[in-house]
Amino acid sequence: MRRHNLCTLLRHLHLAGALSRSSLTTSMGLNRSTIADLVGEVELLGLARQQPPAPGERSAAGRPSVSVTATDHAYVLAVDIRVSGVVVARVGLGGVVLATACRPSPPEHDPRDTVETIVALAREVVHDANDDSVLVGVGVSVPGIVASDRGIVRLAPNLDWHDLPLAQLLADALGTATVPVLGNEADHGALAELLRGAGRRVGDLVYLSGEVGVGAGLIAGGRPVTGMSGFAGEIGHLPFGDGTRPCHCGAVGCWETEIGAAAIADAVGCPPDRLAELGGHLQRLESTPTELATVGRQLGRGLAGLVNLLNPQLIVLGGYLGPLYRWVEPDVRGELAARSLRIPDMTPRIAMPALADRSVLIGASEVAFRDLLEDPVGCLATAPRTGEVFAARPSVT
Ligand SMILES: [Zn+2]
Repeated sequence: MRRHNLCTLLRHLHLAGALSRSSLTTSMGLNRSTIADLVGEVELLGLARQQPPAPGERSAAGRPSVSVTATDHAYVLAVDIRVSGVVVARVGLGGVVLATACRPSPPEHDPRDTVETIVALAREVVHDANDDSVLVGVGVSVPGIVASDRGIVRLAPNLDWHDLPLAQLLADALGTATVPVLGNEADHGALAELLRGAGRRVGDLVYLSGEVGVGAGLIAGGRPVTGMSGFAGEIGHLPFGDGTRPCHCGAVGCWETEIGAAAIADAVGCPPDRLAELGGHLQRLESTPTELATVGRQLGRGLAGLVNLLNPQLIVLGGYLGPLYRWVEPDVRGELAARSLRIPDMTPRIAMPALADRSVLIGASEVAFRDLLEDPVGCLATAPRTGEVFAARPSVT
């Protein structure tokens, strides 16, 4: 029971970053002395610090309340592998991004070079970390189909990765027993927006990711929809297209052939070898190219299918889909209205990611924090110190 309460308190603190002891008393339904004991325990673990109330400060109950703030003693490494580059962040409790570093992708996305890049970036982001701080997890977002339970990237077409044991390669390169948690980038984007972004207080949301391909992270009833093997959300390959254009997956008429980066780049004159920069290209447009109206209608048509299938409350447009939407909103809304069920209140809100281009990165950090949040005492007892992981290894060039 005590362990359960400790985990619950840590989750509250992780979601909020900082709280008052009186708000913890209210949200956990425990008495003040129990909360004080639990907070003391979290403080002893080094995960939080308490601060007395400022002079004159009063809680709702009229008493001054001690504030509890997460520390950066325990942190995770969050990795966002994109087609264009790799981003690594050191993220603390509360979802606080403590440091980030990025590099372009190695030539041809060579897996071993990619792993070396990640390790080099990890060394950069821990540069200012205390030697005694603790690495409690590593989360990795991949633009592809991932078997999370086995740590394998089954297929990442735009990286040309097939059945790549990425978690093990990365664990070996980091020289740590901590096995990285892999996930699909759209799933991570959805999770981050649900917990910390546009989807807070929303139970049913879809995060659409426009990288080079198109994927979706689905949340239903507040929980991620993963499917049997974690592959759910391969929405770019639903047959929302007109059924003529061949897709790289081998089918014809996939949605990705019409709203994927290649199709949009074609419509706006972005060079085909610069698909990864399509979002920026769309942002810099000065007027709407007429060819984009068709893309907008195709986007609206697919969204209508999504709405009829999932009845989401919120659709978050990640990657290049956000800048695209600015130019095609009337076309999208027109098609969405014409093709989704005409029931009042069934139209979802369409929003940009509140975490901007960090949704996927933050989502990777959330999955990496799971061990700590499920068993803080056990996790801290076995997790390596920064000084152990990053001092003894030879530097990566
Ligand atoms: Zn396809």
